[in-house]
Amino acid sequence: MTQEKEIAGLLPGYNCGECGYRQCRDFAAALLERGAELGDCPHLASEKFAANIPVIQQLIGGPGTEFKDSKPIMGVIDGLEADFIFSPLPGEPSCREDLHPFDPGVGPDVGEYVRYRPLGCPVTHFARVLDVNGGILTVHLVGPIHRLGRDDVTFEDIGLCLVVGFDGIVSKGRVPDVGQTVKFLPEHCMMQKVHSGVVVHSEGSRVRIEGIDLKVW
Ligand code: SF4
Repeated sequence: MTQEKEIAGLLPGYNCGECGYRQCRDFAAALLERGAELGDCPHLASEKFAANIPVIQQLIGGPGTEFKDSKPIMGVIDGLEADFIFSPLPGEPSCREDLHPFDPGVGPDVGEYVRYRPLGCPVTHFARVLDVNGGILTVHLVGPIHRLGRDDVTFEDIGLCLVVGFDGIVSKGRVPDVGQTVKFLPEHCMMQKVHSGVVVHSEGSRVRIEGIDLKVW
């Protein structure tokens, strides 16, 4: 398969012309020739296609290729500007979140659901436990729980938790450097509020952020 075809297959396929090209295939060719920017397609940053962005970036120019968009990334509830949108790893329902419950007595097992409130956030979250290691729970956010479409889901209430870290991909905006303090908008945030943290690892568009905080300055 040619690179152009491969890129075209990762674009939304609407052939709507909003990028200035008649078909997604023409846009793919323009991307390869550096005559267009990924951000020119307004549909690519949507939840459905965001995971394709880092793959296209790799095909065009390697990891770290900037996803330029004329529109700033703004939090909805706070109106603050973020450096990037943080999206789930490909095929996953939300960014991975590492939680440290303040109550040492709680002990959900892998595969179980938990209810918790992140420190500094007014919203109750529901999540599924992926891993338990040294008092840290790695979870996928699923809440509100009715999103699962099942009434029989039981969960453990683990109370207040410190959000230790996030793992995901930068789907829109510049991929940050390790050590950088960043402002970012997690795609799964129910309030669409800008978060802050420090980048501790990056591999292409995949990034780990620790010291998650809702205080942004
Ligand atoms: S705007 Fe996006 S979906 Fe529409 S033709 Fe261009 S690349 Fe395809």
